[in-house]
Amino acid sequence: MSTLRLHNSLTRRIEEFIPEDPRRVTLYVCGPTVYNYVHIGNARPYVVFGLLARLLRRLYPGVVYARNITDVDDKINAAAIAAGVPIDRITDRFAAAFFEDMAALGVDPPDVTPHATQHIREIIAMCERLIASGHAYAADGHVLFDVASYPNYGELSGRSVDEMIAGARVEVAPYKKNPADFVLWKPSTPELPGWDSPWGRGRPGWHIECSAMSEAHLGETIDIHAGGNDLMFPHHENEVAQSTCAHGGKVFARWWLHNGMLTFAGKKMSKSLGNTLELHTLLQQHPPELLRYMLMKAHYRQPLDWSDESIAQARATLDGWYGVLRDIADVDANVDDAAIPAEIIAALEDDLNTPEAFVVIARLAAAARRAAAEERKAAKQALLGAGKFLGLLQLDPEAWFKNTAGEEIDTAWVERLLAERAEARKRKDFATSDRIRDELAAKGIVIEDGAQGARWKVVKADECPA
Ligand code: AMP
Ligand code: ZN
Repeated sequence: MSTLRLHNSLTRRIEEFIPEDPRRVTLYVCGPTVYNYVHIGNARPYVVFGLLARLLRRLYPGVVYARNITDVDDKINAAAIAAGVPIDRITDRFAAAFFEDMAALGVDPPDVTPHATQHIREIIAMCERLIASGHAYAADGHVLFDVASYPNYGELSGRSVDEMIAGARVEVAPYKKNPADFVLWKPSTPELPGWDSPWGRGRPGWHIECSAMSEAHLGETIDIHAGGNDLMFPHHENEVAQSTCAHGGKVFARWWLHNGMLTFAGKKMSKSLGNTLELHTLLQQHPPELLRYMLMKAHYRQPLDWSDESIAQARATLDGWYGVLRDIADVDANVDDAAIPAEIIAALEDDLNTPEAFVVIARLAAAARRAAAEERKAAKQALLGAGKFLGLLQLDPEAWFKNTAGEEIDTAWVERLLAERAEARKRKDFATSDRIRDELAAKGIVIEDGAQGARWKVVKADECPA
């Protein structure tokens, strides 16, 4: 019997979560491809599934949570070529920025952070096993997964192979037996990163990286695999095919969890559409708790639209809760001792129902405001305990209310810094250009790089850049 219920994309139902081995519960979340700062949409899976890891740790003594870093990818190669540097200059820098931004957002670090480039041996071994068992073939320096060899292909995303081919605009290539076959390994030209392999110098495809890292750190069958629902096809579908076939038909992930997309003006926020707001910048403009609250405000499977209005609403809600804490600031209550109210756990154990948890917090805040003298300590403790589990209400209320920028902007100073930044970028001095960008962001100034050079604008602390 378990009290935790989770929606499983595989069965499309909410099911009671029962781990295969309660002493070692395994969770894998697809991590970022580090060629740029992540956007606020990318942060959604890490916040909500980080909360899931917290919840699992309460229930089970041994949770192993792996969240990878994709540090070899064609987008990384393109960024490295554009900057004229080796790929690890790009990936080290943006992986470090990612860890910093996650910490600022109150996301607990996972237990393992595997990097794809540190698992090339395991990736090659998995390709060899798939070839040996007839599920993959080598052609023209490539290794391809033979989709026809796996009759359950399409089970996770619920699509037929034909639909998948049409939807994903799969590449038709002469070396493929079937247009749906996907790449496990591909050849590298001398200027691209590559590793020696039985098929010549090359590099892995994206999907096999997660299969190999998950196997290396969590074993053949894992309890939960999670990521955004944009990854369901082809990434997760391909992971299932590879891992199941490499493991003689064993189930790969028993539960699949998918978060809905964060949208901006109704469209999915994505680097390819160019409508992204970088988490790194938003963290300079807003208190991290505000961003965290925004990311948990909608149920994780629902879409979540990011707008000035929703930010203003979120701030008003948090102002209300912090207002209560300010009114009872004299009441002695220790957050570290604060028990987590059972209703909060019950809401979260119901498929991570964060909106319901916030209804509970609103109720606890109202109760704390009304509490008679002798009940105040318990009421404050409950409110702080609830906030703590969700990573909220952890600031001194005075500090929360001071968190607004309101100074006059010196235009000449901004222009001078922008010119310095342009120079720094020309000589590829990213440390300086980032420092300048951060200095401006601290004053609520956002830079927009365009074809005509950089433009800037002032963004109020409680607004978001359009
Ligand atoms: P990527 O670096 O593109 O592989 O994305 C990292 C994670 O962010 C994956 O789990 C994606 O599913 C997720 N993701 C990407 N865009 C969004 C979005 N707009 N809203 C929510 N999650 C997203
Ligand atoms: Zn993955």
